Amino acid sequence: MTFKDFGFDERLLEGIEATGYETATPVQEQVIPHILAGKDIIASAQTGTGKTAAFLLPIVHKIISAPNHDHINALIIVPTRELAIQIAENLEGLSYFTPISSIAVYGGGSGGTFVQERQALSAGADIVICTPGRLIGHLAMGYVKLKQLDYLVLDEADRMLDMGFNEDIMKIISYLPADRQTLLFSATMPHKIRELARKILRQPVEVNISLSKPPERIKQEAFVIYDSQKPALIKHILQQKEFKSVIIFCSKKNNVKQLARELKKAGFSAEEIHSDLEQNVREQVLSAFINGRVKILVATDILSRGIHIDNIDLVINYDVPNDGEDYVHRIGRTARAENEGTAYTLINEKEQNKFAAIEKLLGHAVMKTPVPSGLGETPAYQPRTFKADNRRFSNKRNYKP
Ligand code: AMP
Repeated sequence: MTFKDFGFDERLLEGIEATGYETATPVQEQVIPHILAGKDIIASAQTGTGKTAAFLLPIVHKIISAPNHDHINALIIVPTRELAIQIAENLEGLSYFTPISSIAVYGGGSGGTFVQERQALSAGADIVICTPGRLIGHLAMGYVKLKQLDYLVLDEADRMLDMGFNEDIMKIISYLPADRQTLLFSATMPHKIRELARKILRQPVEVNISLSKPPERIKQEAFVIYDSQKPALIKHILQQKEFKSVIIFCSKKNNVKQLARELKKAGFSAEEIHSDLEQNVREQVLSAFINGRVKILVATDILSRGIHIDNIDLVINYDVPNDGEDYVHRIGRTARAENEGTAYTLINEKEQNKFAAIEKLLGHAVMKTPVPSGLGETPAYQPRTFKADNRRFSNKRNYKP
């Protein structure tokens, strides 16, 4: 299906062409006609499916087709600054030839940024992309007029709830007109998302896009190891080959900090990224990594979703991600744009059951590579056979390996 088939405005079609999209992705095919028809949507769709354009394109089309758009028409609430920036950039490209105005409101910047945001919010930018806390900061000051809002999008809603934004989201919604179109996108559909949907959506159309399998070209391996051996194994791996760019994911901020410190001390070109860092520092680190000035990025899951960095040749999971979806997101950072990539996962004794559950979701075992003998004895891989007692995994109906 091409974008012309949706009947989009010519100026929007020009932007789509300039961005390089030729045909619609499955989520776009399924979602766009409903959004154009004015329906509320609850969609389970991951990053990487083209979900951002799936909501941006019909919203832009509808706004520019309406007689006046001198107020905030659409509000897109997202969990992280990185995602806000990325959506804003995507929007800028797609809407380049249209008269749409937009602003990303995500905080963490200087006082000057706040003033800029205030101006754009007071003037009524057509589309506002925001993180919840920052928007509430502006709302409290009274100049943000949302009473004429037409579209509300919650992106990565499950993540927002995991990050404790439920109350903030409900507070923002209390400023919005009841008569609006609401679109909710979530990677997973736990009970609390259903609850939220029940409160804020009106007779929504439900769309399920299965999580795609990690691309075949990603070489996946795992090391069964004691926790104390993990830093030494990481250094060993990094010394084996000249990697251009490597991301190492850790679930905990403290592990990120400690590992980054150890790698730097050992002379590696490594930096860290996690939520304790100021926004401008995070951006600097990310841009140094993208430019190749920093070869190794140690990061929390803040970086596992939504961030598009091409040419990563190795992803290492310092610890086992919490579920199969996080695993697919993390390793999906490598082998983008048809490149080859490698993903290693380090599994300690406590993480074996979790990893076995991920393997079950993947539909195959991941090769266990022997740890170099210099690192000493390692545990055997003996996960308890996975049973349906772990509802986090058994509930993932939309996962099709
Ligand atoms: P998303 O799931 O929105 O994060 O999108 C994943 C990637 O796919 C982004 O780099 C988008 O720019 C790209 N993309 C989205 N829609 C299309 C399309 N129809 N054709 C080609 N690439 C697309």
